[in-house]
Formats: sequence, structure tokens, C-alpha cells
Amino acid sequence: MRDFSTDHRWLSINTATVRKSRGVEQPLPDIIEACVQRGIRAISPWRDQVAAAGLPAISKLVKTHGLELSGYCRGGMFPATDTAGLKAAREDNRRAVDEACELNAACLVLVVGALPGALSGKAMHKDIALSRSQVSDGIAELLDYAKINKMPLAIEPLHPMYAADRACINTMEQALDVCDALDPAKSGALGVAVDVYHVWWDPKLEAQIQRAGKERLLAFHVCDWMTPTTHLLEDRGMMGDGVIDIPRIRGWVEAQGFAGYSEVEIFSSGNWWRRESAEVLDTCIVRHRSAV
Ligand code: ZN
Repeated sequence: MRDFSTDHRWLSINTATVRKSRGVEQPLPDIIEACVQRGIRAISPWRDQVAAAGLPAISKLVKTHGLELSGYCRGGMFPATDTAGLKAAREDNRRAVDEACELNAACLVLVVGALPGALSGKAMHKDIALSRSQVSDGIAELLDYAKINKMPLAIEPLHPMYAADRACINTMEQALDVCDALDPAKSGALGVAVDVYHVWWDPKLEAQIQRAGKERLLAFHVCDWMTPTTHLLEDRGMMGDGVIDIPRIRGWVEAQGFAGYSEVEIFSSGNWWRRESAEVLDTCIVRHRSAV
């Protein structure tokens, strides 16, 4: 297992972590400059942040600074109630692949979606099995396009509390079942993003990480699980402040040969987003060394 205690060369910042500074939305170019100033070598930006600044401008900044993208957030949201909705999702996902290619991302992260309408407050149906089959079909179709463009797809299993509105793939086992069905050759084109926040509780986690192997382990996301958790989405903790044994999980992932970045991804409307983003980045560096 790599020693992170003396430097932060394997730290990546998911830009949602510093999306806000003292509650104020931060432009992505400012976030990039702040990362570069601190010797942070990788980021994982969100599509809306890239769109707000303009893809060509961000692409240029990334290249100028020699930054790497540990991932691109995100594609997915495949389920829909009609063919027009499925088609819109397909087209949007293809655009996400194109953007990820332009930015030379290590992978496109997929938050696969769940019951249509649930995210905006009203689910259009209760058939989660239907959503899961639409997800599988959607990934299969996108995989063909992603392979042509040489952009790996990383399915991110989300904690079961998001099964209704964000992702109906909730465990590593489920995600890997989809991978094995659609990419039995383990080509490297399809795998998983292991986010400790979503999977730390799973009694099968170690076994499923072993099952995944190097070919399927495309991204590693870190933050911490707070007790109590006061918000379903926006109460993620800084590494070391919660109950997740992050080094143990990183050890399992690295034992399979994963040698990429540890990507810090913290959504925290009540704490970290209220602080100065400089303080948040400095804390990420310290905790990357001591708690990851
Ligand atoms: Zn994540």
C-alpha cells in the first residue's frame, strides 16, 4: 500500500468539495488555480461547472497546468418513462463521453438513475426492476460509444438511501454483475468507482473489491460518514472526522493493483461549503496524509 503520509501527489479534488466558499458558488477556473497553487495534480470536475466556464476554456486550463482528471462527473440517469426520455438520456450521455474525452479524463463516472421523476419530488412509477433493466440497457448502449472513443465508464454504486432517486445500483456486487454481463472480457472499458461513503458498510465489500480486480477498479472516492448524519446528500464528512476506516479500504483496493488518485468528494452544506475554500483544500491535504 502506498505511503501517503509525506506528500499529496495522489490527492485529487472532486470540485464539488469546494463548489462553494463561505456559501458562495466558486467558478471552476478559480478552483483549478487554487488546486494548482497547492501542488494538487488532479481534479474531478462536474459537468455543470465545466459548462458554466466553457469546455474549451477548461480544457485549455487543464492542459496548461498539466492537470489530470481522476474522473469526470457525471453521466448516467438512464431510466425514463417513454422513448423520448430514453433518447434524451442517451444523447446527453454521449455528450458526457465527448466532454470527458476532450478533458482527457481517466473515466466517466456513472450515477445510473432510479425511478423517473423521483429526483424532482414525484416518482412516475414504483417499478425499480424496470429502472434496473433500463440502466443495464443504457450502459450497454453507451459502452459501444465509449469504447469507440476510448473512454472507460465507471459505475458508481450509491448508498441504498439513494435507491429511489439517484441510483438503483447500490452495492459493488450489483455494479460488478452489470460489468460482468456487459463486458465479460474485463476489457478495461467498464468498471466501478469505489466511493467509501457509499460502500463502507457492506459486509461483502472486501470480497467484491477482490472480485473487481485491477481492470474494474477505475476510481476511488473518499470522504467520511458522520454520526449522526443530518442530511441525506449534503452532510459528508472530512476524512478522519467520521466512522469509515478509509486506510483499510484503500489497502484492499491497492492490493488489487489500483494505483490511481484518492479523490476527495465532500458535499457539505452545513460545514465545509460554509468555510473558506482555501481552508477546505488545506484540510484535504492534511487529512489525505493522515486519514486516507
Ligand atoms: Zn463518489
